Amino acid sequence: MNRIHLLSDELISQIAAGEVIERPASAVKELVENSIDAGATQISVEVEQGGLEKIRVVDDGVGMSAEDAALAFARHATSKIGTLDDLFQIRTLGFRGEALASIGSIARVTLKTRQAEDRVGTCATMDGGKNLTVEPCGCDSGTEVLVLGLFSHTPARKKYMKTERTEYGHIFDLLILMALSHPAVGFRLMRDNEKIFDLPPKQNLKERVRTLFGGAVADALLPLTYEQSNLMVSGFVGKPELARSGKKYQFLFVNGRAVEDRLLSHAVKEAFHSLLMHEKFPWFLLDIELDPALVDTNVHPRKWQVKFVNSQEMYRAVFGAAQHALGNSMFSPVLKNVIPETTPAFPTAASTTNELFTREILPERSFAPAQIKRLALRPLAQIANSYIVAESEEGLFLIDQHAAHERVRYARLMEASEKKETTQQLLLTSLEIDLGVEGARLVADYSEDFIAFGYDLQPFGGTMYLLRAVPIGLEKKEPERMVRELVSDLSDEWKRSAVKNLRESLLTMTACRGAIKFGDALTMPEMEALIHDMEKTPNADHCPHGRPSIISFSFTDLESRFKRRNF
Ligand code: ADP
Ligand code: MG
Repeated sequence: MNRIHLLSDELISQIAAGEVIERPASAVKELVENSIDAGATQISVEVEQGGLEKIRVVDDGVGMSAEDAALAFARHATSKIGTLDDLFQIRTLGFRGEALASIGSIARVTLKTRQAEDRVGTCATMDGGKNLTVEPCGCDSGTEVLVLGLFSHTPARKKYMKTERTEYGHIFDLLILMALSHPAVGFRLMRDNEKIFDLPPKQNLKERVRTLFGGAVADALLPLTYEQSNLMVSGFVGKPELARSGKKYQFLFVNGRAVEDRLLSHAVKEAFHSLLMHEKFPWFLLDIELDPALVDTNVHPRKWQVKFVNSQEMYRAVFGAAQHALGNSMFSPVLKNVIPETTPAFPTAASTTNELFTREILPERSFAPAQIKRLALRPLAQIANSYIVAESEEGLFLIDQHAAHERVRYARLMEASEKKETTQQLLLTSLEIDLGVEGARLVADYSEDFIAFGYDLQPFGGTMYLLRAVPIGLEKKEPERMVRELVSDLSDEWKRSAVKNLRESLLTMTACRGAIKFGDALTMPEMEALIHDMEKTPNADHCPHGRPSIISFSFTDLESRFKRRNF
């Protein structure tokens, strides 16, 4: 008995569709990408019931001839590549020729299209991969695709759809990506006959970010650029206060295509190093343009991933560009901008599926050194031997004394080592210390780094060292024990490979060890001195691990908390 038989074309398409069209948002993605590839300047998307009932995408792109419209639903029909070589020179978003065939095999689809030069347009329909009809019709120039009853032909797949709200949420997120990757294109989104947003065409990236996320976010972005012969990186990184606990605000576009890439996302995070807490993810939008021959786009059916020929080079470019953007800024004042002046354009979206899409991104208050100075903080008291209570004309402030002093020391040590100044304190008597085998090796291997930060450690036979000087601050605190513990902690972390950059870790540890501790009682002059130091220290509002070191209760906050005003 024969068991093998060929599958029908219809079934083959439906199986293939499973890969490409995972959910309504995938269909929207394919259709919008086609519109962008067709050179549209205005794209309008309407969805009903999370796209399951209806998706309609209308563009003003080049349209199709009657012959092309008839072919568009065929599997592997594309105008975008012709040869294998083309596959490595992709400049369009689509190229696999699968999208319309896939969508046509699992829904009722009507395509209306007309080229500007044609008098009559074409209307083509398909239903569940069958009954293709093609006939002339009157229509605007450009293309309109109407998709009804997605997955109604594949009930097994339909069962996997989440609530209408969730499906709509994916569509919304997708359009945000499309809108950010193509700021020159106008995008309109309608959900169940309600307008969600209408982004004008010809915006630049910053304007688009402002329209989508509000002024507070746009104002907290630092521009980033990097150029090399075959590679251009542009976009923004958000100041640390925009960082969030998820990767939702990490936008990466490669040749106009939104993709995810853990390595590049890591590169940006690394550039922030001590400016962010470990579990926080920076806000960024990177627009990478590179020679299409240097990136493989054909590695994922829905094209969410790409493969770079030289990923190391990409990592370095992105890391360098982000670091440069951050270093250039020193975080200029955003004091008055904590609450966005412009409310984002789509209240409906924010209050439905994408609750908090805009609200959660309100920055925490942050302070540049100049602002701390302008506040003219006066210390009032210390509580729990740990926090300094201070006042200014703007309100009440609490300072975490350890975090603040750690940052001050960190900045001081770094500056001194860069300028090759010494931050050394000679000890009255040299101290013999036993560093142990690993500690001794570490100190020998990284002697330059130890010297740079003010340690003077001379080998004294075996694992014994002579400690003659320590970085300023450490001399007050049992220097021998401090150094021994520091070296042993550092070599532990080194062994566990928890240390990526030894110099950086040594700096952080040195800053931390010599800093005022939680629980140290401070006198009024000591508190004044610390505040004075903060006024001169970049990023004094965060400790080197990224935790805030100062929090504020403005009089406005206080009035609203005591219900003296309503807002
Ligand atoms: P691909 O985009 O991978 O080429 P699709 O199945 O998405 O495959 O589309 C098939 C072809 O139909 C495209 O190559 C293009 O020539 C044409 N087409 C699809 N949508 C549009 C549109 N909105 N405007 C103009 N042409 C389109
Ligand atoms: Mg396509």
